[in-house]
Amino acid sequence: MEHPENDSCYTGLTVNSGVAQPPSVNPYLAGRRRRKPLPSAGELVEGILRGDVTMLARAVTLVESVSSDHQAIAQEVIEKCLPHSGESRRIGITGVPGAGKSTSIDVFGLHVLKQGGKLAVLAIDPSSERTKGSILGDKTRMEKLSVHPGAFIRPSPSAGSLGGVARKTRETIVLCEAAGYNNIFVETVGVGQSETAVHSMVDFFLLIQLAGTGDELQGIKRGIMEMADGIVINKADGDNIDRARLAQAQFRSALRLFPTPPSGWTPEVLTYSGYYELGIPEVWDMIDRYFAFVKENGYFDRRRDDQARYWMYETIDDRLRSRFYNDPCVMQMLKDKEQKVLDRRISSFIAARDVLDYYYSKGNDAL
Ligand code: GDP
Repeated sequence: MEHPENDSCYTGLTVNSGVAQPPSVNPYLAGRRRRKPLPSAGELVEGILRGDVTMLARAVTLVESVSSDHQAIAQEVIEKCLPHSGESRRIGITGVPGAGKSTSIDVFGLHVLKQGGKLAVLAIDPSSERTKGSILGDKTRMEKLSVHPGAFIRPSPSAGSLGGVARKTRETIVLCEAAGYNNIFVETVGVGQSETAVHSMVDFFLLIQLAGTGDELQGIKRGIMEMADGIVINKADGDNIDRARLAQAQFRSALRLFPTPPSGWTPEVLTYSGYYELGIPEVWDMIDRYFAFVKENGYFDRRRDDQARYWMYETIDDRLRSRFYNDPCVMQMLKDKEQKVLDRRISSFIAARDVLDYYYSKGNDAL
């Protein structure tokens, strides 16, 4: 069939018809090894500690992999990197799509890199599972950072539950820190539970807001505001400046109604423009002051301890659930019991007890 773009209105463009299936492949290519052999855990660790970005990226790919061979290497690498991790500022950045996260991360990132050191930008994107591709952490969205030698940008891992995706990002933080990245940004869309996951792995949580929509306080869940250590109102430029200031005042008064957070730090509200690069040092100055404050009062270490504990239980939860729900007999039994519950032949509790009793009777209580 003639391709529509071969119409004469598209001068200078011809589209050839494609070939359904090439008859053969180049014999030279067919004989070549397709994949590079997997590096050993020792080689990966050595590369990571040297700051070798290729080795870091390969290790992160193993962390994200679902293959048990890859996971075994990944876990060994993480364990060996752990003593070299922890020395970074972990900053979570959230905001609804269009709030200006990528524009802001680009300029905040450059600002941080000017002060020396390195920056890793990671992401947790709950939608990536559905879309099979991540919208966050995409290099093309951070034009300046993506070509900076001190920046490592990694999109959200895409497989598994939110808990699983978040755990992989947390493990990636360990690897990045061991590779000398002393600033870690974790980006997420401010629309759902992913903030809780990000909050449980960062030291500072920045909420990017917009002004000028007339309903500044709507659309953000109270819980997200409660988690924020700083709220910044973006796009404070041109004729939006006054609206941004008004939103700033509204957020400040809304925050006064919240109890003092456990850090003892009162979240600040600032305005800035990511696009025109206005107010960036001021936002960073706030973050510097926060770190000085929580390191002084001991909250920094307490929060990291709490997070380590949280991830231990979170991982146990995740493993128990996936082992239980992926057991073929359990799957079959659940289907059967569910129908009986719906037919009112047994109660929900009896059904649950029966399935669990069966599962434990198989010797699954010793994991
Ligand atoms: P994200 O979806 O949160 O990552 O948002 P983006 O960074 O992609 O920004 C969404 C849109 O807002 C883009 O068209 C940006 O150019 C624009 N934008 C971002 N920051 C600013 C700003 O400070 N001022 C103005 N006027 N526009 C901005």
